[in-house]
Amino acid sequence: MTRLDTITEPRAAKSAQTAAERFGVMERQELKYTPAVARETAHLYERVRNHIPEIEWPVYAPYVHAINRIKKERGAAILAHNYQTPEIFHCVADIAGDSLQLAREATLVDEQIIIQCGVHFMAETSKLLNMEKTVLIPDAKAGCSLSESITGADVRLLKERYPGVPVVTYVNTSADVKAETDVCCTSSNAVAVCESFESDTILCIPDEYLAMNVARQTSKKILTWKGHCEVHERFTAEELLAYKEADPTIEIIGHPECHPDVIAVCDYSGSTSGMINYVKDTRPPRVLLVTECSMASNIESEVEGVEFVKPCNLCPHMKRITLPKILDSLLYMTEEVVVDPAVADRARLAVERMVNLKN
Ligand code: SF4
Repeated sequence: MTRLDTITEPRAAKSAQTAAERFGVMERQELKYTPAVARETAHLYERVRNHIPEIEWPVYAPYVHAINRIKKERGAAILAHNYQTPEIFHCVADIAGDSLQLAREATLVDEQIIIQCGVHFMAETSKLLNMEKTVLIPDAKAGCSLSESITGADVRLLKERYPGVPVVTYVNTSADVKAETDVCCTSSNAVAVCESFESDTILCIPDEYLAMNVARQTSKKILTWKGHCEVHERFTAEELLAYKEADPTIEIIGHPECHPDVIAVCDYSGSTSGMINYVKDTRPPRVLLVTECSMASNIESEVEGVEFVKPCNLCPHMKRITLPKILDSLLYMTEEVVVDPAVADRARLAVERMVNLKN
């Protein structure tokens, strides 16, 4: 046990008990699947019945019921990323979307408490755009291989090595990294952001594959970093071609965090929101989403007549967020995301410059 654990444990336990009593939920094991809970969650079960067997719903429903009740009493809004599991995405989230949509939406909701169901850099981005609000993440250990591939100090070294070269940073980065950045980008606007500079050379970091995909679409020289998404880097062109060979009618839709060889065999490539819109607009009979596999489960019920083929690559960081942890977050106001105001001011500028770009 660390010194910090020794100091904080008794205090946390005391405040936890008080909050649990206040909201009428004493212990997790006391959550019961009562007739009232069954009745009041029945409409939510309809949204997830294709993913959660009926026999398992009594385990989920008491959490869903308690979370939806307590979030109203607390004045909290739950924001969930497209990669969250269906019971979070469909049953407790107030807003669902990609990381940038969630950060923007966080500025629009009336609630002063934001529960960010996603990974840590997303909660940080929401916080730096909403410094006056309390932003909580149900598991502060929910990281990201891309975000963790680079630090603010690394970016300062890059700027020393390439003086005057504009720095474009993917939103999947920490506030420290964003603070060293000229303009942030998303997977959908990375080309436009790089082309918005007069410079012939751009540092597009930290996602090597996103940068390589950008380089194919611009005449600028793109310098990058060796960061990768551990979910998207696992897909290969060979496995996708095998799907195509087995069924030439299947549409393959890829995320630009995949290797360029993978994107080359896709019928469409875009951000998670872009992928969802593509499926909704074009309604292909069979589709394979080359991304985290919860996304297909989440949109399946919204696009009838589309069959989803799911090569199941899960993000272990996204899956750290669970209903019990969301309930704890609401009860005990944990874990609060804190960003140094000086860092937040600089990081916010990089995000706002991106938002203000006329694409
Ligand atoms: S899917 Fe990839 S980019 Fe997204 S949070 Fe997980 S590791 Fe990071």
